[in-house]
Amino acid sequence: MSFEVMLRLGAAAVLFAAFAGWELAAPRRRLSVGRARRWPGNLGIWIVDAALVRILIPTAAVGAALYAAGEGIGLFHWLQLRLSVAFVLGFLALDLIIWAQHVAFHKIPWLWRLHRMHHADLDFDVTTGVRFHPFEILISLLIKIAAILALGIPPVAVIAFEVVLNATSMFNHTNARMPSWLDWALRLIVVTPDMHRVHHSIVRHETDSNFGFNLPWWDWLFGTYRREPEAGHDGMTIGIPQFRDLAELRLDRLLTQPFRNDGNVEAESTQPPSTRR
Ligand SMILES: [Zn+2]
Ligand SMILES: [Zn+2]
Repeated sequence: MSFEVMLRLGAAAVLFAAFAGWELAAPRRRLSVGRARRWPGNLGIWIVDAALVRILIPTAAVGAALYAAGEGIGLFHWLQLRLSVAFVLGFLALDLIIWAQHVAFHKIPWLWRLHRMHHADLDFDVTTGVRFHPFEILISLLIKIAAILALGIPPVAVIAFEVVLNATSMFNHTNARMPSWLDWALRLIVVTPDMHRVHHSIVRHETDSNFGFNLPWWDWLFGTYRREPEAGHDGMTIGIPQFRDLAELRLDRLLTQPFRNDGNVEAESTQPPSTRR
């Protein structure tokens, strides 16, 4: 195992342990299903994702950035931007692209089939933050590589972005309590758990808001920001109308969800929530 892989795995494990410990010490909401039924599947899909991406596309995004830098490919190289400027613009561009991609995963029916697995979790905690279908991870990676090559985003910006996004996507799914003044202050620069929890509401127009994973600014800018769920953070229901059976929390069911219609709401299951009326 290479040093880089060990470093990434080690950092992810430390972050996970820290956020999980915080949740245990100061929980925000009572879990409706709990950990024992959800964590094996959620952590299982995390391992599948790590193995798949690592095997199929090793060093993926950073590799593309190194290639672009070596060959002088991409807009930032043609404009001969200074590294500091290219770093900031590259970081912002990656975050905006991830945001836009998330909107697309909600609006385009076949992409929603992949992404709805993230939303089908019946509770919202740190393991929800690593619960993504491997096909969504792969598509997301290809989009990121295309953006890196087109813009010539410097490798250091790509590494920084990946590190920050790994940390924030766990942080903003954490089921931990924090003072409202801290949530308010943090929300100016990063998506907080209370902000992202709205996105996991079963209510359709709430699911289709707060698309940010990292910087909160894009949702403010494009009018998709929603401060709170209508039912309140304690009263809201987490999940989507489909796949609410407890058996759907198993790893094998998570993997096959995109290719199945749920019996109860079959007519709706092929459409993203945004187009259901
Ligand atoms: Zn989503
Ligand atoms: Zn989420």
